[in-house]
Amino acid sequence: MAKKMPETPMLDELESGPWPSFVTGIKRLANSEDKQYADKMKSLLGQLEHSYETRLGYWKGGAIGVRGYGGGVIPRFSEVADKFPESAEFHTLRIQSPSGGHYDTKTLRKLCDIWEEHGSGLMAMHGQCSDIMFQGASSAQVQPAFDALNEFGFDMGGAGPALRTAVACIGMARCEFACYDTVKVHRRIYCDPEMLDYMHRPSLPYKFKFKFSGCANDCTNSVHRSDCAVIGTWAGDIKVDQAEFKNYVRTLGRKEIIDNIITRCPTGAISLNDDDTVAIDNPNCVKCMHCIDKLTKALAVGDKRGVSILIGAKHTLKITDTMATVVVPFMPMETDEDVENLYDFCSKVFEFFMDNALEHERLGEVIDRIGLPSFLEGIGVEPDPNMVIEPRGNPYVMIDDWDREAKKWFARKPAIRAAE
Ligand code: SF4
Ligand code: SF4
Repeated sequence: MAKKMPETPMLDELESGPWPSFVTGIKRLANSEDKQYADKMKSLLGQLEHSYETRLGYWKGGAIGVRGYGGGVIPRFSEVADKFPESAEFHTLRIQSPSGGHYDTKTLRKLCDIWEEHGSGLMAMHGQCSDIMFQGASSAQVQPAFDALNEFGFDMGGAGPALRTAVACIGMARCEFACYDTVKVHRRIYCDPEMLDYMHRPSLPYKFKFKFSGCANDCTNSVHRSDCAVIGTWAGDIKVDQAEFKNYVRTLGRKEIIDNIITRCPTGAISLNDDDTVAIDNPNCVKCMHCIDKLTKALAVGDKRGVSILIGAKHTLKITDTMATVVVPFMPMETDEDVENLYDFCSKVFEFFMDNALEHERLGEVIDRIGLPSFLEGIGVEPDPNMVIEPRGNPYVMIDDWDREAKKWFARKPAIRAAE
């Protein structure tokens, strides 16, 4: 006999907003004709409602894995299995997604088929690290499900104190803003057997995440969620099409351009001329992308493209949430040699983390403990005034003529070292 759908008044509330709700997805599976999934999802809904009522979570971890791997499965056992027996085991397999999230429909259908055959039918695409989250496996289903996914060409992602799955934005294939080939760089760094070993066999002090965004719009959330954020940027001038800019002024009006473009430039680097053309003070542009995002036909990223590398972001741990700090303001990223240079730099940062982090410490916390100068020395990078966390908000760095100030700093450095 089919299990009864539980009453879920609190979960139902979550379906009332404007966005698609995960509750609706679970209910759809709960109403499916396949009794195996339907009962499991009904049980899950019951447990979730119970959690909302009591304001307590009832999942505990454990040790579940697949042959040859030390991580990648998130075990979840219910503490209220007596009340909700069908969802007593509800493990998640983290499977690496294709770089840039490029799938074809055939692949998507096959992934769904595998999970319907071996799992629960419930998937989340994607987790914060871009893993495909195959959710709701019982302990007995984990190995056969992974074998089928692996046979299809997919591999396990990272979990625990390991190199985590990396994410690259969709990049040059679909986005005109991409300042480097995010997919290529992602694959170069992660299709390395040594790197994969650190992902599949957790042996680090704690987790380490790389993320690759093609521009400062940062669609991968790298600046606040990755230990090493590689963000596309350019050196030199924004490309301007004055005729298209005038068209924008004509269609949107000067007020709109001033209110939503000119006054929103964080450094006041863009201005509107009396003849409806634009003037950009390029040395003061911090490449935030705002004006380019808004006026796509008139403005474009410059031709000399590369990346900025920012280090040390993370969600709350020992110290509060931290945003990443610019450690490499600009590294060209156009040739294969540039990609190899980036690989070498990323390896150095990663090795520094492995050698110096304490247990359960993210790289941002290591830097907080030892200081940015020691970290820079450890990875062999010279300090640079562009490393300030908030350009033009930092009272210790004179940004106007910063290059002159930097030269003075470098000139003084031997004396400082000698005094030490
Ligand atoms: Fe495009 Fe930039 Fe987003 Fe990448 S981060 S998809 S380049 S807007
Ligand atoms: Fe200003 Fe940002 Fe446009 Fe540069 S990219 S001119 S900083 S709005």
